[in-house]
Amino acid sequence: MTDTAQDQFTGRGAGKMDTIAKGPFAPIYPVIARQILETCGIVRGTCIDLGCGPGHLALALAAESDLSIDAFDASPDMLAIAEQNILDAGLSARVRPIPGDVHDLPYPDGSVDLIVSRGSLFFWEDRERAFAEIYRVLRPGGRTFVGGGFGTAALKAAITEKMRTIDPEWEAKAAERMSRQNTDAIRRELETAGIPDCEVIHDEAGFWIVMRK
Ligand code: SAM
Repeated sequence: MTDTAQDQFTGRGAGKMDTIAKGPFAPIYPVIARQILETCGIVRGTCIDLGCGPGHLALALAAESDLSIDAFDASPDMLAIAEQNILDAGLSARVRPIPGDVHDLPYPDGSVDLIVSRGSLFFWEDRERAFAEIYRVLRPGGRTFVGGGFGTAALKAAITEKMRTIDPEWEAKAAERMSRQNTDAIRRELETAGIPDCEVIHDEAGFWIVMRK
């Protein structure tokens, strides 16, 4: 994780992220969960939410499916919050917090049906290595939905409006992350990582890497 991410995702930074996720971002998680299930067609089996943060995507996905989900994150402070959110949602039987680094996934080859991630890859130090790791642990027939996005253009516009008062730098950062330049760089990284079958879906609400194995 980069140094900036360390500050953002530990201590008070972790609490702030949970507040934002439960506030302006709250409507996006069920929408993205449904997009994942529709695009990937995997509704049961094993799933990892990489860089889950406070766990809201993992929880929305568990609520909409029969998946068993590892809410995976490098920050112990984020995972402590995720653990409480999982308990509060009554989903401890199917969602479990797991510590770890996306560059070195603690899973055997070909063992996971679905790998999702939202808003985390912007903070990975070596995305090519992370992409290769994701592909390694994906089961044949498995899919990924990894990237950044806000569900719909309308939800993105509403968040942008609210975030102007919370973090004046947020809009420019989001625009840079969602830019064509950034997704072109990600396409090149996927190629260098040797991912044989994948697509980058990029629309006005964000972008998602769908790997197929
Ligand atoms: N996915 C959540 C969401 O959409 O609400 C949280 C997104 S937050 C912007 C990014 C998360 O990625 C943080 O919780 C951070 O700790 C995690 N992260 C960053 N680098 C990571 C890495 N190398 N391995 C695992 N998690 C990482």
